[in-house]
Amino acid sequence: MIKRLTIIGVGLIGGSLARALRVAGACEEIVGWGRSPEPLQRALELGVIDRAESDIAAAVKGADVVLIGVPVGAMEAVLQQLKPHLEPQAVVTDVGSTKGSVVAAARKVFGILPPRFIPGHPIAGTEKSGAEASFAELFRNRRVILTPDEESDPDALALVRQLWQQAGAEVIEMSVEHHDEVLAATSHLPHMLAFTLVDTLARLEDHDDIFRFAAGGFRDFTRIASSDPQMWHDICLNNRDALLQMLRRFTDELNILAGAIEAGDGEALLETFERAKAARDDYCEKSC
Ligand code: NAP
Repeated sequence: MIKRLTIIGVGLIGGSLARALRVAGACEEIVGWGRSPEPLQRALELGVIDRAESDIAAAVKGADVVLIGVPVGAMEAVLQQLKPHLEPQAVVTDVGSTKGSVVAAARKVFGILPPRFIPGHPIAGTEKSGAEASFAELFRNRRVILTPDEESDPDALALVRQLWQQAGAEVIEMSVEHHDEVLAATSHLPHMLAFTLVDTLARLEDHDDIFRFAAGGFRDFTRIASSDPQMWHDICLNNRDALLQMLRRFTDELNILAGAIEAGDGEALLETFERAKAARDDYCEKSC
């Protein structure tokens, strides 16, 4: 059992993990740290955390596990603040959506990726933010990717693995590079498409009618455009290379599609749609 878990940034993800571990009886005490008092107080009132601390030294004092749940653009500054106060044996982990940038931030602050810092990323979330949106079941039957390196402490890795398993997740290990490439394709690109589609339509002259007559398909496709803009700003800038590669590939494919429509090439259109339908049906059969 973890004696003291400190969550740095008690939002949707940090708050949901806190709730899940409480339900699992995995921690004696859950402490929350936040930069602003109101959301932290709300997390306390909701019972997400047992104690709220605005002083980071007090928050991590005596903590055996520190989980960082802030946007990836804030990681380096948070690590810098944490560094002088961490207990020597504390295990540190994060939930950031990009891993190359988090590891680079840790190396910048500590000189190395500390062996007891196990980078992580739960492949689960919603378009909502904050502790109010958190719920204990968020990670149940979902995957969590950990990206340790060859210097990582096996005990720290086992502890972080166990933490996520107690929250109901399946834990997978992957290299940082592979993580960032895979997530650029499966998460970051779709978010770019949803944001751009909604923004494009919203700026059309007859946008009122467009939204009035939008049906279920539009709602399904664009749900993720309600995600937090600051979080996605950070993700784009912190997974720049992999995301740009996917965006360029997608732009090429979109241009090919436009060319087929322009040329009246129905065969090419059918081929694309049939390939896509088969791939999605297969994905849903295995994972939906
Ligand atoms: P969230 O609900 O907005 O929570 C973010 C938390 O970080 C809040 O407590 C916020 O405090 C704090 N924070 C924001 N900016 C900060 C800064 N500059 N310095 C210190 N604290 C700061 O976001 P979330 O969805 O939980 O995301 C947290 C992390 O999980 C991100 O790294 C994200 O990439 C990753 N993630 C998100 C999802 C998802 O679907 N949402 C899925 C997987 C991973 P305030 O209350 O003061 O703003």
